[in-house]
Amino acid sequence: MNWISNYVRPKINSLFSRREMPENLWTKCPECGTMLFHRELSDNLNVCPSCEHHMGISPRDRFTALFDGGIFTEVEVPAPITDPLQFRDQKRYPDRMKAAQKSTGESEAMLVAEGEIGKTPIVAAAQDFSFMGGSMGMYVGNAIIAAAERAVLMKRPLILFSAAGGARMQEGILSLMQMPRTTVAIQMLREAGLPYIVVLTHPTTGGVTASYAMLGDVHIAEPNALICFAGPRVIEQTIREKLPEGFQRAEYLLDHGMLDRVTSRTQMRDELISITRMLLGQPRAISGILEAPAETEEAPVLEAPKEEDAAKEEVPVKKAKPAAKAPAKKPAAKAKPETKK
Ligand SMILES: [Zn+2]
Repeated sequence: MNWISNYVRPKINSLFSRREMPENLWTKCPECGTMLFHRELSDNLNVCPSCEHHMGISPRDRFTALFDGGIFTEVEVPAPITDPLQFRDQKRYPDRMKAAQKSTGESEAMLVAEGEIGKTPIVAAAQDFSFMGGSMGMYVGNAIIAAAERAVLMKRPLILFSAAGGARMQEGILSLMQMPRTTVAIQMLREAGLPYIVVLTHPTTGGVTASYAMLGDVHIAEPNALICFAGPRVIEQTIREKLPEGFQRAEYLLDHGMLDRVTSRTQMRDELISITRMLLGQPRAISGILEAPAETEEAPVLEAPKEEDAAKEEVPVKKAKPAAKAPAKKPAAKAKPETKK
């Protein structure tokens, strides 16, 4: 009996469970080869803790990490006509779409949402590289227009996270038409005097780089992101010359004046909060733990210690008078020592 329970059973168990373990729970960092526990990796926003390599992240996960308390509302995007050219390569275009929808759980390659970051209301759009290479088709064009219109209507800044292999060839000329369309959408923001911040993630290439991804007021990139119109392989084949080390990577582009900043994904939220506040002419953000945006009564109270802010915030404070009075003292007392840091 002992022999069976101590030796045979564990052996049988290990035979059956061994195969699933590494695949489901561990991810190998493609850069340094470290085996990373999936939980550890997702807690660190898909950035390798040992070598800082930035792996892909879905728009939904990014928004959960970006918005206060992980709370955001999706902005509806009008659906374009499907498969206008009856396009077929190895697969039919609608079949390709279905496969991408199934593997990502999203309906298309861009997600638009609104919410608050550090108590500043914003509109955000993020492109999904895992959805057909984040390719820009009519839907992505519609998404950017919806995001820009929403931002103008609500008088909010727009933050866009780009990631794309370029235009969607299955939509032919219609995908290229999205370049002028999105450019006009961005111009609407400019005319309304609203900030437009672009975060370029790996990789941002092709028609996306030639339109909305390069029209921001501020361009931030994630470390080592490939950002280009034509890729290095194409250029190398054309000019028949070896390209310099790190060519078209974020750090190289920062050195050559194409970007304003290169920021790690783990620091991105704080950076975006400071930049949006700066562009909106608001005082510096208060550091510390912020309450979830659902409790609207407390929102103006937390910012009360700032003198300049007090005047601006008067209107919302009045609205929330009966409920805000009692809890007003506590958060104010808590927030004060933190502002002095
Ligand atoms: Zn690594």
